[in-house]
Amino acid sequence: MHPNQRAVINHIKYAMQQQNSPYKVFTLPNGNFREVHFSLRGPKGTIFEGGLYHGKLVLSDKYPYEAPDMVFIQESGKFEIGGAICLSFRENPNLWSPSLGINGLIRSLQSLFGDEEIQGIKIIRHPDKEQVARYVEQSRAFKCSACGCDHSKFYDDIQKVTDEFDSLHQQK
Ligand SMILES: [Zn+2]
Repeated sequence: MHPNQRAVINHIKYAMQQQNSPYKVFTLPNGNFREVHFSLRGPKGTIFEGGLYHGKLVLSDKYPYEAPDMVFIQESGKFEIGGAICLSFRENPNLWSPSLGINGLIRSLQSLFGDEEIQGIKIIRHPDKEQVARYVEQSRAFKCSACGCDHSKFYDDIQKVTDEFDSLHQQK
């Protein structure tokens, strides 16, 4: 059992309960809470808009006192897949805080898609626009064999719901 299982479960629950959020969170069918999968929407106004990208957070025994590893499973053109992304806040532990949680971490990750200056391990510095466009198209039909999520089942909903949410917030 994970030493901080309660915190882990609370953070997962909180992330799952967010309404109109630009991401979805999935747990593994085997009840392994050390790995949390997500699909996040490419930010509006970027070449990643319309994309839905799948990845996972790998939680160590020290979570939430240590930032999870962030790994993309699906190609986006922004991040390389299959290895932990290393960002400035991983290098500088002060930038990660336990209160950021899974929800905050996925949101930070989403905002990085629009950040052209960010550097680090697994980050593609100069995304190829045509390649990115192909990945955006492919992302509609992505399926994850580990968590069982199927983008074709909620692709339209997540775009629509978060578009409404965005426009509501812009009006305020
Ligand atoms: Zn998955």
